[in-house]
Amino acid sequence: MCEAKTIEIVDGLTAKAREVATRLGWKLGRHEDGSIVAKTECPRCGGSGHYSRCETYGTRCFGCDVASGGTAVGFVWANAEKLAKKTLAAERKAARVAKVLDADRAAFAALAGFVSYDDLEESGRVLSFKRAEAKAAAAAAAKAAAIAGLEFVGEIGEKLSIEATVASAFVVPGMNLGYKVLTSTLVKFHDASGNVFVWFSSAGFDAAKVGSTVKLVGTVKAHRTYEKTGERQTILTRCKIG
Ligand SMILES: [Zn+2]
Repeated sequence: MCEAKTIEIVDGLTAKAREVATRLGWKLGRHEDGSIVAKTECPRCGGSGHYSRCETYGTRCFGCDVASGGTAVGFVWANAEKLAKKTLAAERKAARVAKVLDADRAAFAALAGFVSYDDLEESGRVLSFKRAEAKAAAAAAAKAAAIAGLEFVGEIGEKLSIEATVASAFVVPGMNLGYKVLTSTLVKFHDASGNVFVWFSSAGFDAAKVGSTVKLVGTVKAHRTYEKTGERQTILTRCKIG
């Protein structure tokens, strides 16, 4: 099989085939029998060059032109006129399908009261965006309402003894003394009404306790409002966990 000389050979094709070959940029060649051939994706392997799972030859495709002594892996040389005919038929079929689809979409859009399918799609996008926005706003409002319902517990200096759920425990890096870094663990608790208690433990905290309900004894050190969320927190000190 010879290498392609597109410009010269294109003149030997019928007008239709010439149009397709030029439009799709086909690489053309001439077969021994004089017919014009076009380089096209191997129909057996779909252009990958691999098909058979034969032990000896691996996955090399025997449909590819390389098998008949050519150099194209994943491609074959097919009669250009036949290939053009096939290509045009496939294009016509695709156009028919698209036309039917367009008609369906137009009818569907009209049914839904839209001028065009694009309008319907756009409206759908706006609608789903608005729904997502409303959902996020509702979630934020619910969270804000929950936070607003929280209260400070006890008086400063008062010793509290409550049932509480361990909400979280994070190690907070502290002052670097050179020979060691002081760390403390920020432990957050919730009581039965959801009120928040915070304890900075310098002795560490067993993370396995997160999620469990404990008996919490501690002294109220401060009441503070967490700036970011407006959450009221009762800060405890000298805590004992039972
Ligand atoms: Zn192949």
